[in-house]
Order: sequence, then structure tokens, then C-alpha cells
Amino acid sequence: MPEVNVERVIEEFEAMTRDAGRVQQETLRRILEENRDTEYLVSLGLNGRTDEQSFKARVPIVTHSDLAHYIQRISDGDPNPILTGKPITVISLSSGTTQGKPKYVPFNEELVDSTMQIFRTSYAFRNREYPIGLGKALQFVYGSKQFKTKGGLNAGTATTNVFRSSKYKSTMRSMQFQCCSPDEVIFGPDFHQSLYCHLLCGLLFRDEVQFISSTFAHSIVHAFRTFEQVWEELCNDIRTGVLTCRITVPSIRATLSKLLKPDPQLADLISDKCKQLVNWYGLIPTLFPNVKYVYGIMTGSMEPYLAKMRHYAGDLPLMSADYGSSEGWIGANVNPRLPPEEAVFAVLPNIGFFEFIPLRESHGGVKLDPVGLTEVKVGEEYEILITTFAGLYRYRLGDVVKVVGFHNSTPELRFICRRNLLLTINIDKNTEKDLQLAVESAVKVLAEEKLEVVDFTSHVDLTTDPGHYVIFWEINGEPSVDALRESCSVLDRSFVDAGYVSSRKVNAIGTLELRVVRKGTFQLILDHYLGLGAAGSQFKTPRCVGPSNAKVLQILCSNVVRRCFSTAY
Ligand code: AMP
Repeated sequence: MPEVNVERVIEEFEAMTRDAGRVQQETLRRILEENRDTEYLVSLGLNGRTDEQSFKARVPIVTHSDLAHYIQRISDGDPNPILTGKPITVISLSSGTTQGKPKYVPFNEELVDSTMQIFRTSYAFRNREYPIGLGKALQFVYGSKQFKTKGGLNAGTATTNVFRSSKYKSTMRSMQFQCCSPDEVIFGPDFHQSLYCHLLCGLLFRDEVQFISSTFAHSIVHAFRTFEQVWEELCNDIRTGVLTCRITVPSIRATLSKLLKPDPQLADLISDKCKQLVNWYGLIPTLFPNVKYVYGIMTGSMEPYLAKMRHYAGDLPLMSADYGSSEGWIGANVNPRLPPEEAVFAVLPNIGFFEFIPLRESHGGVKLDPVGLTEVKVGEEYEILITTFAGLYRYRLGDVVKVVGFHNSTPELRFICRRNLLLTINIDKNTEKDLQLAVESAVKVLAEEKLEVVDFTSHVDLTTDPGHYVIFWEINGEPSVDALRESCSVLDRSFVDAGYVSSRKVNAIGTLELRVVRKGTFQLILDHYLGLGAAGSQFKTPRCVGPSNAKVLQILCSNVVRRCFSTAY
């Protein structure tokens, strides 16, 4: 497999984005042409038309639930062309952390191709700025369980479906993304064992590791938090050349036993380095001296992990990865020098047809019609609609993005949040982003006591009258009573939405409550999702737990160790 020709990939991207409007029309034409005889498009009376005007006039804007019964029939084995001309043979499970259970979405080769295109594009831009040498990548990636649907289709998370494809392997090789860990570890049946072995393989190849990555940043932070607990055991394995008995999966044991030879020198070196670290600051460059950067999705719901990631990464650059979903990809990070908080994604105009619903209402309060890729305005926020080669047409992804500029004629998007309102009781409206900002302010109080919030979520408690917001925190130590009280009041004050503030003033929304959960509670939540078939790679902590997510709510409520109420109002 030849190496990726960085300059050529960049040239192609530049040419395509200069002509984004035309490429979009052509992409829509191809999607509609390939799928003209599908039951779905035929039923909408498109009659083979492939122009944008007819498409918008005939095809409705939908959500996943509108398409669920079509997808169900596909996964039950109906061989007819339902949503796509070519049969769908694989189903992806989206991470489903928002609704509490994974959603099924169609997966096909075109999605693999666009994934590779996105990876190659951002790699080309990244490598131009931060070239990596020959070597390996310490990648915290996990294939989840695959299973057969009722109709015999393979089903797994999108990342698993991609990791399993042969194109993925060859593209990764061409980008020198050779993972330290063998496949037995990546696709192992037990997340915890795979994580331990990723760390072990990383240490064995520590001099060769060029960069550290995961799909979502949570996996990197989680991995190094685990390292803090297990480093002595890892050193012991390296010293004796014998794998700890905690690894019980036979295929993993067999492969790793071949890699592991007694190496007391390496064990001593790692152990000395760990002991020299102060509070694990700079852990990554200390243990992996040739790492050039840390890479993964760090935007959106991953932002709260940035502080911890910076702590582990020391002076190394953090680079946020691309923007997409199980349903389809959207944009690549072609500005690798931007810090993760400012990361933007340039939309690739040939991987799908994109529309944008303006969130700003017109003067009369009327909802505005969706606009096309090249018609969006800088500074405005939109909800994204995608039309893909995998059978989704005008599909509401549920994400809010802001247009912050253009790369040639394609927009550069900043991810803002999931569209779903998180916290709302009456006229208040607080999103994932509002919650994140409130938590960011309140953790400063804890930082004065050198404590951190390991993870957080929220809940609207309507069992009280009036209802009130509940924020759950897992903290890495014991804050004083005063610090906890103050944090709680800061949280309450930091929700600045006018509806919230006015409702709080008149007690139409009750006093905000902060509940501290036992250490390890968020690990139980991760385990719960893994048990449902989610992949560790795609995990995102749900930032609001509604009543439909009863199991997670029960895990949280049964682990509360302290609670306090705000005195802000
Ligand atoms: P999944 O359901 O696991 O396929 O996750 C897809 C969702 O993850 C998207 O709809 C976004 O909400 C979020 N996501 C994906 N990429 C990014 C990114 N680069 N920045 C922020 N959020 C992202």
C-alpha cells in the first residue's frame, strides 16, 4: 500500500471545495439516481427526478423515528430495495447515549469510503504541520460485539463496522497508523481487559509510539485514569514476562504472551518515570518520548475532558478529530493548529447532500426554511440535515452547528451541541452547552481545594413541586462542606437563560440540587452501555438523564453520597 500522497489529497480537497455548490448538486444527483427505484423515494413520487427543487418539494424532513420501521424491515431481512438501491447488509448501532438505547442505522461500503476520505483529508493537513515518523500509534479503540439481526444482517457500532473493513486496515497502513495492539485486543470481548492490554502494548512499544488517539477523547482520559490504578501491575507483567491473571480471554492471552518477554530494565525505567511524576502531570510525553500529538474528537460533549487531557499531555499538542456520526460523515478538521476549543470542520461536499435549518427565527417568529451548503451565513447557528448514500434523506441528525467561516466555498462548522433540549421545566431552555459552561464555572471552586470533577450529568426532577434541576458529580476526593455549597450555588447562578433566571426568582423552578456520587459510578454507567452492545470507542456520557433512561437514573440515584442545595436565589 503506497503512502498517502499528502499534497495530492490536499489539492483534491482544495479543488472540490472551490466548487462546493456544483459538487453538492452532483452528489444529490448521484444519490437519487442510485436509489431511484427504492420503495421510499418511489412512494414520495420523485419519479426518477434528481434535481434539488423536486427533491425538496417531495421529500419530507424526517427524524430517526420516521424511518425506524423501514430500517426495521431491512434488519428483519426484507430483500426489497427499501431505502437504498443496493441491498444493505450491515446495520450500525449509534451510541444512543441520548435516548438510552442504541438506534439502528443502515451501513454500507459508501460509508466506509467517505470515512476513509475524511481520515485521509485531515491526516494530510495534520501531517503537513506535524509530520510523524515511521512507527506506531497507541490507539484506544475497541470493536464492540457484533451480532446478527433477525434477518441475518451483521450489526455493530459504526466504529466497529469501520474497524472491521479491509479498506480501513489498508488506509491506516498508508497513513502509518499501525496500532500497537493486535486485533485480538481491539476486538476482544471484554472492554476492561482490552484497555489494560492497550496500555501494556503501548508500553512495550513506547519508543515507537508516534501519536496517541481514540475516536472520542473520553477513551484517552479514561485509559490514563486507569493507568494510574494499574501501572504497578503493568510493570510487573513487563518485569516477569507473564501476563497478569486478570486477562482471561484465551485469544488475548495467547497473542500477548508472544509479545511479552521478561524485561526488568524496561519495567524499572517505567516504574522510575511514574514515581517521578507529580500528580501524573505530563504522563504521556514522559512514558512515550516520541509522541508528536494526541488525537481524537475533543469537541462537543468531549470538551469537559480537555483539562484532564492537557494535564496528561503536558506540552504536547492536542488535535481534535473530524465530525461525523453513525449516520454519515460531515466535515474534516483541516486546521490542525487550532486548539480543540476552536476546532472547526470543513464540510466535504461529495460525501452527502447537506441542508441547514436556521435556528434564528424570522421577524414574525416563523421558522425559516433549510438552506443549502453554500448558502449558509457566517455567525449563524443551524441544525444539520443529511442525505446520504446509505439511505437517509433529509434526516435530522439532531446536532446544532455554527458557521464560523468558509474554506473556499464550503462552510467551516463549529459543533455547538445536540439539538435536544436537555434541561427544561417550564419556559427555561438549557442545552448541553449551557450545562457544560455552568459546570466549568463551578469546578473552579473545587479546583481551589485541588479537586476535580471526574464526570457529570444532570436530571430534571419533577417529583418535587416545583420541579428542579439536579446535577450529579463524581469528584476525585472529598470537598469541604463550604466548597460543595458554593459550587452548587455557582451552578445555579451560571444558568443564565432568561427563562430559568426568571422562573427561579419566583420559585417556579425549585432550588438547584447538587448530588455527589460514589467514585466509580460513571464507570458503572459506561459498563451499562457496554452491556447494551455500545462500543467503548463511541461512548459519550449522557449529559441529561431523563425518566426513559431508568437504569442509568437508578445507577446514579443509588450511588449518591452527598447532596446539597443552592442558596443562589
Ligand atoms: P454516534 O451516535 O456514536 O454516531 O455519535 C454521533 C454524534 O457524536 C454526532 O451526532 C455528534 O453529536 C457527536 N460528534 C461526532 N463528532 C463530533 C465532533 N467532532 N465534535 C463534537 N461532537 C461530535
